[in-house]
Amino acid sequence: MSDKTFQFLDLPRKDPKKIKAEVRIKHFKEIYGQFSAEKAADQSARCLSCGNPYCEWKCPVHNYIPNWLQLIAEGNLFEAAELSHKTNSLPEMCGRVCPQDRLCEGACTLNDGFGAVTIGSIEKYITDEALKQGWRPDMSGVTPTGQKVAIIGAGPAGLGCADILTRNGVKAVVYDKYSQIGGLLTFGIPPFKLEKEVVFTRQEILEEMGVEFILNTEIGKDIQFQELLDEYDAVFLGMGTYTYMRGGFEGEDLNNVHEALPFLISNVNHQYEWDENKENFVNLSGKKVVVLGGGDTAMDCNRTSIRQGADSVTCAYRRDEKNMPGSRREVKNAKEEGVHFLWNRQPVELVGNEAGDVTGVKVVTTRLSAADGRGRRMPEIIPGTEEVIPADAVLIAFGFRPSPAPWFTDFSINTDDGGRVVAPSTATFMHQTSNPQVFAGGDMVRGSDLVVTAVFEGRNAAEGILQYLASEEEAVQSSSKT
Ligand code: FAD
Ligand code: SF4
Repeated sequence: MSDKTFQFLDLPRKDPKKIKAEVRIKHFKEIYGQFSAEKAADQSARCLSCGNPYCEWKCPVHNYIPNWLQLIAEGNLFEAAELSHKTNSLPEMCGRVCPQDRLCEGACTLNDGFGAVTIGSIEKYITDEALKQGWRPDMSGVTPTGQKVAIIGAGPAGLGCADILTRNGVKAVVYDKYSQIGGLLTFGIPPFKLEKEVVFTRQEILEEMGVEFILNTEIGKDIQFQELLDEYDAVFLGMGTYTYMRGGFEGEDLNNVHEALPFLISNVNHQYEWDENKENFVNLSGKKVVVLGGGDTAMDCNRTSIRQGADSVTCAYRRDEKNMPGSRREVKNAKEEGVHFLWNRQPVELVGNEAGDVTGVKVVTTRLSAADGRGRRMPEIIPGTEEVIPADAVLIAFGFRPSPAPWFTDFSINTDDGGRVVAPSTATFMHQTSNPQVFAGGDMVRGSDLVVTAVFEGRNAAEGILQYLASEEEAVQSSSKT
């Protein structure tokens, strides 16, 4: 038994320092600092090393959490980094953006009044610090197999897949239509949650390992899918979900009404000077902004608008605070930064003037029904409660639906009724689609979800691809014997 067994009794949970709200709203930099080695060791030593660690099961990639916490408590940074990468291809990013309160930390035994171990911050600390001190993934035992796989999409699913294939000697070539890797890590999640330098560092690591990136290239337009099938042994699809959900009410086409994602993309392009066309930048400085939605995308829109210098930012959501889908941490941060929340408000119309500019959001007040079969409480409109919230810019953050490519049907890649590609984890080769040479994972298979679940599916699909390639090889060998 370590002499720190009862550390949790004396040492409370402490998160890394957070920049004060009045300072952080003046820039787009990350708001959380980094632990020192000593603080990381102390906080890690709070872990009880439960015999059956719930945190591991609740973590979608099933990280060996108590084991790497112990390594950090003992000062073994490089060993912790090696272990952390055994289950997660992007630990420094998950440590930053996972909704830990719903995942690993939500399942920590110490939540019972003592405060969960700061698992996310320590996961981030491990990789950030190890890379800074020169640690690199150990590729010395890897022998190239001569096989190669094309990956469409450099988001977390594609990167997870590339990582596992490369570690198994298979050449991974990743195509993306954007100018940068990362998918929504780069173009959706704002820099105050994840600075893009973190993604650049991961790109360098993956390239050093042997992954090749071909950017600014849209498959189906710049290169035809058939060419990939001809040139590669298998193809992985990690193309995300990009159909924006609309409210279906009047006024959505008024001027200064924006979809959440194009707004966030324009902001990151502006911050990093990636878009030469300055006209594309949606600047909400000085505007009365109303954000519609209650998920993480809505929180990102709120906090980006604040940083752009909006005059006021109001977020309207149709359920109450307890029943909103966004991470508690992000709602708290948004409140601290000056976002005003209107709970139980359902938009019914966007109101405009004669020039076609939006001037307000008509909402009605709601109350929640009893829980349905899935435990979800539906908002019911209270009659006679209409009001107009003044606005001169509106951001719609109602989420995303699948966006299957029109060419999927030409290649027998089946989708379900909702447009998600069918590539189950239970297939003979994990995440194989109805076209045996093609695999898929991430948001395009499970619907809009999380970075960590996309990484998990990308990694599992890579395992499926490795087994598929082995079986193809075996078939060739046995046919050459007969
Ligand atoms: P994506 O990240 O969408 O990547 C898909 C990639 O495929 C893109 O780069 C795209 O350019 C490329 N692509 C598509 N079609 C083609 C083609 N034909 N040719 C070439 N390239 C193509 N999750 C969290 O865990 N925490 C958060 O805080 C969080 N915040 C979010 C905030 C916002 C605003 C949004 C929109 C999402 C957020 N998410 C968050 C969700 C998370 O980002 C996604 O679940 C995750 O990125 C999905 O990964 P993916 O690899 O499946 O797809
Ligand atoms: Fe927690 Fe996410 Fe890290 Fe898993 S990957 S340990 S859920 S922060």
